[in-house]
Amino acid sequence: MKKYTKVFLVLGGLCLFSLLACGGAEKKTEAPADIANEKYQCPMKCTEEILDKAGNCSLCGMELEKITKS
Ligand SMILES: [Zn+2]
Repeated sequence: MKKYTKVFLVLGGLCLFSLLACGGAEKKTEAPADIANEKYQCPMKCTEEILDKAGNCSLCGMELEKITKS
C-alpha cells in the first residue's frame, strides 16, 4: 500500500513538473524563433549549401555570410 502511494506521488510530481516545463518552454520559443530564420551561406556562393549556423564554407573555407530572410 505504501509503495502504491509513493508511485502516485511520483506520477503527480511528474505531471506538475511537465506542466511547469511546458510553461517555461513556451516562453523560450520566442527568442530562438529569430535564430531559426538566420541562414548562412558562402559569400563567394561557390556552393548553394545554406546552413542554419555560422561556420566556414566546405569548399573555399571562407567564413559563411549571414543571410537575413524577411
Ligand atoms: Zn565558398
